[in-house]
Amino acid sequence: MAFGWIDEQARARRRAGLVRTLRPRPADTPLLDLASNDYLGLTRHPEVVEGATEAARTWGGGSTGSRLVTGTTALHTELERALAAFCGFEAALVFSSGYAANLAAVTALGPHGSLIVSDAGNHASLIDGCRLARGETQVVGHADPEAVRKALAAHAGAAIVVSDTVFSVDGDRAPLTALAEACREHGAGLVVDDAHGLGVLGDGGRGAPYAAGLAGAEDVVVTATLSKSLGSQGGVVLGPARVIDHLVNAARTFIFDTGLAPAAAGAALAALRLLERAPERAARAREVAAELYARLTAAGLDAVRPDAAVVSVRAPSPERAVRWAADCRTAGLAVGCFRPPSVPDGISRLRLTARADLSGAEIERAVRVIGETRP
Ligand code: PMP
Repeated sequence: MAFGWIDEQARARRRAGLVRTLRPRPADTPLLDLASNDYLGLTRHPEVVEGATEAARTWGGGSTGSRLVTGTTALHTELERALAAFCGFEAALVFSSGYAANLAAVTALGPHGSLIVSDAGNHASLIDGCRLARGETQVVGHADPEAVRKALAAHAGAAIVVSDTVFSVDGDRAPLTALAEACREHGAGLVVDDAHGLGVLGDGGRGAPYAAGLAGAEDVVVTATLSKSLGSQGGVVLGPARVIDHLVNAARTFIFDTGLAPAAAGAALAALRLLERAPERAARAREVAAELYARLTAAGLDAVRPDAAVVSVRAPSPERAVRWAADCRTAGLAVGCFRPPSVPDGISRLRLTARADLSGAEIERAVRVIGETRP
């Protein structure tokens, strides 16, 4: 039977209690949301919604084609200039998703004969970029600059080092300064994914590379998503103009993909303008994370000290993690649940988002529910 083998996989997933399901979210939910990636609470901000609406009115519901044909509007160009200026890079290129941006950066900068050194904790989109790239990938231990140095030393020729800046599972930070040093010793490029850093880390949310003094560097390329702090959808690559020109000419997920929808570009631009005017939002997300962590730890929960706006709480088993998240939901709290196969180390976790717009009372309530439903 066609696709017969998928039934065996489905049975195995059911046996392990690891079936994934899609659950539509009501537009107006009574749940306290610590599950979304809306770090700055901007996705429903009136200016962001207006940015999307106005862009759709002006440019239509879709971008109508690939960026190199009809899919580039003045709005795309303005967004790229604004993102580059904000993050401190010479140029930027906007994609239809952060996933596409990562595939583009890794494949276009990791050609045949090159070495791609990739952190074992990297996001799936970077891993898939490595799989698609023609260069040879070497996976190194998590956040281990010495292992990176060794891998680079053993290779003659072009090389890049690829890492998340803030890892999506535990919310811990990559050792960016040490990675940049290792790259410089060996003439390698550094490609970092700042999906969870943009809008949260660095002065006014300019991101982890900015905080590490790497913004605008000749040998540093940053990718990010517009779907988290910027409350929209889409992705971006930031870097030297010659790298961005190279992506325009060589990155297949840029060339063969339809351009970002105007409404998404308009929303992201409005969110960026808001963040420029209200830089304290970034610091507030970090404060909320610190407060969540302190309260969780005081309640005896096994939380990981946050480096950005992600707070992870370890659970005893995948089944109990799923149950815990479901019990939180019943008690009015939405939390994320990370479990195998999405976690490389096999440890299941609740994943909490420290949104900048959470009040002290909401933080207290969230921690109380998590404590009371603990397995
Ligand atoms: N990188 C990281 C670290 C992410 O967490 C995500 C989103 N989950 C992505 C890339 C992909 O971004 P997007 O959702 O915009 O495709």
